[in-house]
Amino acid sequence: MKCLILVDIQNDFLPGGALAVPEGDKIIPLVNQLQAAFPLVVATQDWHPPNHGSFAASHPGKKEFDAIDLNGLPQTLWPVHCVQITDGAKLAPGLQRDRIARVFPKGTDIGIDSYSGLFDNGHRKSTGLGEWLKSQGVTEVFVCGLATDYCVKFTALDAAHMGFKTHFIADASRGVNLQPDDVTKAIQEMKRAGITILQSEDLLQPGGKLSRVITAPEPLPARFKQTAVFLAGSIDDGAAEHWQDVVIAACEPDSVVLLNPRREKWLAATDHHSRNPAFREQVEWELQALELADIVAMYFAPESRAPISLLELGLWARSGKLIVACPDTFWRKGNVELVCQRYHVPLVSDLEQLIRAVRTRVAGPKPPGQILYTSKFLALIKEGHWEYVDRVNATGAALIIALTAEQKILLVEQFRIPVHARTIELPAGIIGDEPGYSEESQAEAARRELLEETGYDAARMDALTNGPSCSGITSERVTLFRATELRQTGRGGGVENEDITVHEVPLAEIGPWLEAKGKTGVLIDPKIYTGLFFLGQKQ
Ligand SMILES: [Zn+2]
Repeated sequence: MKCLILVDIQNDFLPGGALAVPEGDKIIPLVNQLQAAFPLVVATQDWHPPNHGSFAASHPGKKEFDAIDLNGLPQTLWPVHCVQITDGAKLAPGLQRDRIARVFPKGTDIGIDSYSGLFDNGHRKSTGLGEWLKSQGVTEVFVCGLATDYCVKFTALDAAHMGFKTHFIADASRGVNLQPDDVTKAIQEMKRAGITILQSEDLLQPGGKLSRVITAPEPLPARFKQTAVFLAGSIDDGAAEHWQDVVIAACEPDSVVLLNPRREKWLAATDHHSRNPAFREQVEWELQALELADIVAMYFAPESRAPISLLELGLWARSGKLIVACPDTFWRKGNVELVCQRYHVPLVSDLEQLIRAVRTRVAGPKPPGQILYTSKFLALIKEGHWEYVDRVNATGAALIIALTAEQKILLVEQFRIPVHARTIELPAGIIGDEPGYSEESQAEAARRELLEETGYDAARMDALTNGPSCSGITSERVTLFRATELRQTGRGGGVENEDITVHEVPLAEIGPWLEAKGKTGVLIDPKIYTGLFFLGQKQ
């Protein structure tokens, strides 16, 4: 379920109040309109005791907007505001109250401020809001109010951190801007935390709907803020049942864009050739919309033949974004079933189950990019105009600079398929996607890789640095470890069909040795020099 969170829309934060936010009153009509678009609305209320620690007046000798340390936390000192039971603390009179299910007070402890509506600034105590939302079945929250650069931002960040799919409604919020770019910075910080930035028009649809439908050949934007679902499946030149309308009606309460290829009047079958501009426009719209979609919902209607849907099933089977419904009576059910099994495509048997599966996925987080292709080890992702690869079953990689007691460096040489050459590298390996993954388990993985590749067991494994392994091409991050206190327990050489040669090179001779090797045509991985840099540093 979705919930609208109204942050601190109180008299003291409106023009004329003790801590006025410029134009704070301007958001109220919009906020009232937005309330109608949500099944659940809650509000937070700054609710301070008279001598609260966030007030400059509580600290003799300090001025308003001074920065101090308050019980171990940095604190900006504010004018006295939102004191319990005063008019200043009341919710704004223009704010519609009848749809607000609960009001959560915050900042009630003298010794600690609470910008966020969910936790105090030290995350020492919860206000109960997050837990309450979860108890109500809320999975997605929309945050707006006063002020963007303080209480709204921290409420949104905490909500995202608690696992809610979180959105910030920019035009239904206003900021303080103590520094001129504080609001801009707050928005950037929210974006970095995975929070989507919306305008109220993204949410306000005629009739209070949250969903939006784009029907071919309406123009398609470059990307969508909301999750986009392409309605693939039977049309049969307009003869198939109108299942698309059923899906569209069912998704009305969802924050989703539905891409519908089915137009009012379908082209006659005789016009289906690529030289016909109207036909070309339709097909190119479909191909573009399929690429943009986060989810491809495919329904094979029982009486239909659906040749184009079958083609699209083939195109998108490996994408990770297909959900298919195919009743047993569909004439090619067997083919559909076997394709879905092989490529792990979720398959259900009727329209009702398809709608449920799509709505469940829509309620989850929107993936950052489109999956163009997935395979056993890698996925090709497109995000904006950029393409890159993700490892499918790994969380990262470990690189090891290993130094023996005799001051020798361990390097590995093997034929590398992508570069078609023998390559000398640091011992390395990918780190699996195990639950409870931590720096310790990374060090364990690094130790195992070193042993497999070189035959040396390291009693000590220190993490040195972490960063992208090649930031233009892959999301992978690599941790560099220093392995010491080594003991040779085997010959190394890798597992199964890995053909690895281990080199033990005296540290004092490493530069000329690498140079000589490079002249023989072996490729030298520059990351070796990164490892050597760390060996040169004081330990
Ligand atoms: Zn306050």
